[in-house]
Amino acid sequence: MSWHGIEGHDHVVELFRRALRRGRLASSFLFAGPAGIGKRAFAVKLAQAMLCQQRPEERLDPCETCASCAMVLAGTHPDLDRVGKPADKSFLPLDLLIGDREHRRQEGLCHNISLKPFMGGRKIALIDDADFLNAEGANCLLKTLEEPPPRSVLILIGTSPAKQLPTIRSRCQLVRFRPLEPAVVAQLLVARGLVEDAAEAARLAQYSEGSVSRALELADAPLWTFRSALYERLAAPLLDSVRLAPTVSAFVDEAGKEAPPRRARLRQVIGFAADFYRQLLKADSGVPLPDDPEIQRFVQEALDRAPGTTVAAAVCLDRCLDALEQIDRNANQTTLIEAWLDALAAAGQG
Ligand SMILES: [Zn+2]
Repeated sequence: MSWHGIEGHDHVVELFRRALRRGRLASSFLFAGPAGIGKRAFAVKLAQAMLCQQRPEERLDPCETCASCAMVLAGTHPDLDRVGKPADKSFLPLDLLIGDREHRRQEGLCHNISLKPFMGGRKIALIDDADFLNAEGANCLLKTLEEPPPRSVLILIGTSPAKQLPTIRSRCQLVRFRPLEPAVVAQLLVARGLVEDAAEAARLAQYSEGSVSRALELADAPLWTFRSALYERLAAPLLDSVRLAPTVSAFVDEAGKEAPPRRARLRQVIGFAADFYRQLLKADSGVPLPDDPEIQRFVQEALDRAPGTTVAAAVCLDRCLDALEQIDRNANQTTLIEAWLDALAAAGQG
């Protein structure tokens, strides 16, 4: 089922419809779920539905043609404010929330949402990349969260409630978005012209963890060649972390000079390793492996060499997840790779 082109989140549509019908809509929300599953698109469509001048908001069925609907689509609606983290910043700048130094509290999202709606409906504000709110930014939001202006709706879009400070978390209604079904990811890839071949779209979707953006990151041939080499090393009896670290570093460097594509590639490499250990754990407890010849081969090799590797594999998986978190904190690339592989090698010997 699709809601105005938004796939896979009908349960959230119903949640908002019910709240609006009962007149019990909260004023602050935290949208949480993996990146690339449509949370932002959902938030914009929700805003459009609530601001539509033709249809009552509780229907959540924007007409798509009135002046208000058109302005939301064009990104020019005066009652909808959107901010996000600029690519070159590691957190959400304060200026976007409360104005720059010369205009503190006279500009920015917190000021805008406190104004009366221009077009009569509501004031709606979306904070994208809410994972990157620092303590200062979170503090600025507190007043808005504690004394929400009448008919205002503030939506924070992040990946997990764990990434929010308790002060923010406790003041927002949590709305969880589920990863998309692989078939939906494949369908979106083709429908949006992102991947031409349907079979390739289905293959990428299988590894996408329900995320369109992750599927797209994986549409990269060298990545899969590297995965084979990595799995071979991970399946070997002893992991030579000292030799593997420069190989991983060099592969990450090939992604480009800029930090974001390098971080994305490192995330993919560590994600592949995490998946290896995840599958190893599953196989060790008798769960059938996915339809992936390489996973099957290397996981089987690792099991044959050292049956009952559950404890070590669980530790390794943990180390991979730790390393993935470090990437988001802009850790130094070389140090991170070395520490991660050393930790894997130590766990394998333990
Ligand atoms: Zn409309």
